[in-house]
Amino acid sequence: MTDKVVVITGGSRGIGRATALAAAARGFRVVIGYASNKEAADEVVSQIEGSNGKAIAVKCDVGSEADILALFKAADAFGTLGALVNNAGIVGKSGVRVDEMTADRIQRTMSVNITGSILCAREAVKRMSTKHGGKGGVIVNISSVAAKLGSANTYVDYAASKGAIDTFTVGLAQEVASEGIRVAGIRPGLIDTDIHASGGEPDRAHRLAHMVPMKRVGVAEEIANAVVWLMSDEASYVTGATLDVSGGR
Ligand code: NAP
Repeated sequence: MTDKVVVITGGSRGIGRATALAAAARGFRVVIGYASNKEAADEVVSQIEGSNGKAIAVKCDVGSEADILALFKAADAFGTLGALVNNAGIVGKSGVRVDEMTADRIQRTMSVNITGSILCAREAVKRMSTKHGGKGGVIVNISSVAAKLGSANTYVDYAASKGAIDTFTVGLAQEVASEGIRVAGIRPGLIDTDIHASGGEPDRAHRLAHMVPMKRVGVAEEIANAVVWLMSDEASYVTGATLDVSGGR
């Protein structure tokens, strides 16, 4: 158990929501970032408070540096930062080839998935690094098996953004390893969340389930369990690694 603060971007729904609940159950004070769905974020806060946990919801589009600074300011007022989960991520419309992609789509994907994660990590390192007077901590980056598969004919831009996250995990981990901070990643496979609907294909995960060696989609809690393990002292010698949680995909 810990009484440290964890910041979870995109904590209002899906994998972020499950991670918020799992982290609260382990004693973390949870800062739930959300892009626009205040109702969903407030529901997660209520659920945590109903179990005697502590949580706040903060509006934060990780495509905005000002929002990220405000998120971490709110976290500072809530307690000592011990962990960051870089979970917020978006897909463009599914089934769009690279030769059909607009610059706006590509830039938005990179801005949210890559720049947002790097800026959040910057703010977390400033607070957690022993070099800056902090007490150490953990950063977990949510990647995707798309980073390895490439997502041809689906969303190659998204897959490329997650490839960048995998590289970022390696580099940042080495940069701060001697400053009390561990950095690790998770590559989820096909998980049953709203992200598939946001790409225009609500049944995508179930449609492709037969391609998963385990022959089923995953649930958000299966990713959350891996995240809270990485955040725990049980993973004290894990850094720079990215774990596939994908049913073998
Ligand atoms: P989801 O169900 O679509 O939920 C997205 C969450 O992120 C929501 O809380 C949403 O907030 C928030 N969000 C969206 N855009 C944001 C932005 N610009 N800034 C900050 N927050 C934003 O997604 P998910 O499936 O849980 O995905 C979570 C992470 O797992 C993503 O990084 C995704 O790439 C990765 N992943 C998912 C799968 C999968 O199959 N589901 C597979 C591999 C990797 P609002 O509620 O306010 O909209």
